[in-house]
Amino acid sequence: MIMQQDKHIIHMDQDAFFVSVELKKNPELIGKAVIVGGNSDRGVVTSCSYEARKFGVHAAMPGRTAKLLCPQAIFVKGNMDDYSKASHEITEIIAQRVPLFEKASIDEHYIDMTGMDKFFGCMKFASELRQTIIKETGLPISFGLSVNKTVAKVVTNECKPNGEMEIPFPEVRPFLNPLSVHKIPGIGQATYRKLSEMGVRKIETLAEIPQELMFKILGDHGLNLLQKAHGIDFSPVVPYRERKSIGTQTTFENDSMDINKMKAILTGMVTNLTFELRSQQKLTACITVTIRYSNFETVTQQARIPYTALDSFLITKAHDLFKKLYSKRMLLRLIGVKLSHLVSGFEQIGLYHTSEEEYDLYQAMDKVRQSYGVESVVKACIVNKPQRDDNGKVIKYNPRKKRPDENNKEEERKKSRIRTFINSDVSSVNKPTDS
Ligand SMILES: [Mg+2]
Repeated sequence: MIMQQDKHIIHMDQDAFFVSVELKKNPELIGKAVIVGGNSDRGVVTSCSYEARKFGVHAAMPGRTAKLLCPQAIFVKGNMDDYSKASHEITEIIAQRVPLFEKASIDEHYIDMTGMDKFFGCMKFASELRQTIIKETGLPISFGLSVNKTVAKVVTNECKPNGEMEIPFPEVRPFLNPLSVHKIPGIGQATYRKLSEMGVRKIETLAEIPQELMFKILGDHGLNLLQKAHGIDFSPVVPYRERKSIGTQTTFENDSMDINKMKAILTGMVTNLTFELRSQQKLTACITVTIRYSNFETVTQQARIPYTALDSFLITKAHDLFKKLYSKRMLLRLIGVKLSHLVSGFEQIGLYHTSEEEYDLYQAMDKVRQSYGVESVVKACIVNKPQRDDNGKVIKYNPRKKRPDENNKEEERKKSRIRTFINSDVSSVNKPTDS
């Protein structure tokens, strides 16, 4: 077994990623307080330059507050296409040079150098990789090198922006001890407040709390925090594979050529998948549509897309791909959709392809679905119109009053229900720890 002190994990994180992409496009903005997102009344800051941070502006802050704190700030709308392209470029550079890495979010990668340290100096290797990324993309990046993911991430955050630092095993505790507990990745507002109320502000103090007490106050999460305070984290670097995906497919009872029905089914499937995506706080960068003709001929179309988790954009894409695919006037027996190239991220979805209203709508719909199930809210186009009587009045459905063909209908409903399979890769992925 490899001991923790023998591990070498690099955490690489772009500095103010979205802002940096904007500065590269528009160098006039360099040195100014720049904020991406949050320009409308209810918008939220997605990224801000270090000049804006000096005024207390930070990501996830309401744009209104940011404007009050930093009236001279320049607000930029943001362009997810550009950020996604830059993100892929960075991943590509890393993929060409290291065998084991994880893409943790749109601008963060973990690299496991364990075993390679005998051939390369890890610090030298990481430093050169960082310079290569800066040279090839023109975007600033920082990294931390240490014995596990948690400590490496804390190291990165401490040496940002434009920094690099190594904390080898013997220095882990002395490095963590004086830091505020809110520097531990994944510590939420509520936990931070609870610890503050107990007088626990520094990691050193947290590390001294007895296990039983920690469990009593915060449960398993508390024990996990305690470990992190001690600089211990066994979570592995999960290799970045194209296979990371979620998908769903429908086989028809009777083969069909009804295009409108197909589109409605696609809409329903995409809606379910994006809900799942948002529940896992993930974004996708690739959509695949598959159809199978009645003669079992199967065809597939794929499209790379900017990182997203929004229905409207993905539904349009799915319909486009379907249109390209369905070239033969032949009956269909199966239709499927897959979303892949998943990374952690959520706040970013507010940025693009969407209005504030749509963003709010998704949050509201997801809340209902989380309480009442995925099919409690669906697009109107995928349900049948309600039955009406002769006067045009909607006939109310009475669950106690059985209709004659009720049993049959129930069977049919079960059969036609969209089946969703979640790739095991994804369901086992840890929840994002970004705070
Ligand atoms: Mg970053």
